[in-house]
Amino acid sequence: MLTNYHTHCDLCKHAEGSVEVYVQQAIIDGFDVLGMSDHLPYPNFDYGFRMEFAELWDYITDVRDAQKKYGDRLKILLGFESEYMREYRRYYEKLLDEYGIEYLILGQHFYDISGHWQSAFDINDTAECVNYARSVSEGLDTGCYSLLAHPDIVGVNRLPWDKNMDKMTDIIVESAVKNDIPLEINANGVRRGFITDELGTHYMYPHFKFWEKVAEAKAKVVISSDCHNPALLNDSDVQKCRDIAKNWGLHVIDAID
Ligand SMILES: [Zn+2]
Ligand SMILES: [Zn+2]
Repeated sequence: MLTNYHTHCDLCKHAEGSVEVYVQQAIIDGFDVLGMSDHLPYPNFDYGFRMEFAELWDYITDVRDAQKKYGDRLKILLGFESEYMREYRRYYEKLLDEYGIEYLILGQHFYDISGHWQSAFDINDTAECVNYARSVSEGLDTGCYSLLAHPDIVGVNRLPWDKNMDKMTDIIVESAVKNDIPLEINANGVRRGFITDELGTHYMYPHFKFWEKVAEAKAKVVISSDCHNPALLNDSDVQKCRDIAKNWGLHVIDAID
């Protein structure tokens, strides 16, 4: 089965191509399942670089229309990539229970820490990565999410791998296994290329130290394009992710529940 559950579209203001263009690309590439998962907008808060809250129904309508038009060619799923923020829990539940959203993936780009929103891309202390992990774990415990996107995204901060980084990894992997939620190898990490540090030359994410523990735990793994351009839906970097997962002995699954 050829699947991708992490797909964006131009409503988020930092991607190219409409929902329909991604669906057409998926058909060309021979996909069986395309999950649309653009960044979730929040009521009363404009994070920027994503669809407006007022556009929520435009997105839902675009995906529903694509399901009607192309549903005989492939399975199209209506999802969002969403952070987990405690104060919005009711909102996530409403999306799933009342708005007909078929799945949420957890992409913890920022999280709530003692009353302020901390960006996962702007961490300068490994102790903060443990807070990141706790927020991810609390999110997975809600049962709202079907996939954990780029669990090792904090790798972009290029922090030294120390005991806190191991602790972060343990918290996330244990939570994913407990909740039976797959962890994502994200092709955007591969697209960012290699860095060299005291561990050698490696990707910031997928970070090999993180995925060693995933392999040990035999946790479920999903490979995602996280494409923001239709040409990247099934590009050579997605293939690299498949090869990496194989080399690292990961338990890759191709369908999420
Ligand atoms: Zn994005
Ligand atoms: Zn993301």
